[in-house]
Amino acid sequence: MSFLKQFAINFANLNTGEYSFEFIIDERFFEKFNESEIKIGRLDAQILLQKYDRMLSLNFKIKGKVNLVCDRCLDNFDFNLNTENRLIVKFSSAREEESEEIITIPESDNEINIAQYIYEFIHLALPSKRIHPVDKNGETLCNKDIIIKLEEHKNKKNTDDETDPRWEVLKKITFN
Ligand SMILES: [Zn+2]
Repeated sequence: MSFLKQFAINFANLNTGEYSFEFIIDERFFEKFNESEIKIGRLDAQILLQKYDRMLSLNFKIKGKVNLVCDRCLDNFDFNLNTENRLIVKFSSAREEESEEIITIPESDNEINIAQYIYEFIHLALPSKRIHPVDKNGETLCNKDIIIKLEEHKNKKNTDDETDPRWEVLKKITFN
């Protein structure tokens, strides 16, 4: 059985009402998505499904840690992720995405696989800048050795770029 099969919710057999589902999201999940930025992580996904006659409402609560690469020092760090999203599934003749929150699926469908949505919600919750958090003293948790090396490199580059002021003076001297 494919790992993602467990994320298929068969709603056809459910009476109208409220149902909850829980999933563990970890490496086995992320490896099913080749393009996933996250390879390592451990999250709990709680799905609350409300079944109505003509639609489903799904509430996703996803919480846990994902391992990211720091933009500044390039070391890995654990990011605390906590996100809540909603998905409305309407039944119709066509299969389409009306918006990020609303989709329609054919009435003949019996189940919906929510793995793709969990994947998207997790990635949407990533910060635009991935940077190590600070500790309780406000000190960055970035790899100090790397930061020092980067600073040295930056300073060296700056001095290389600068023109020696003595040359500037010489250039101003005109020969009559
Ligand atoms: Zn860092």
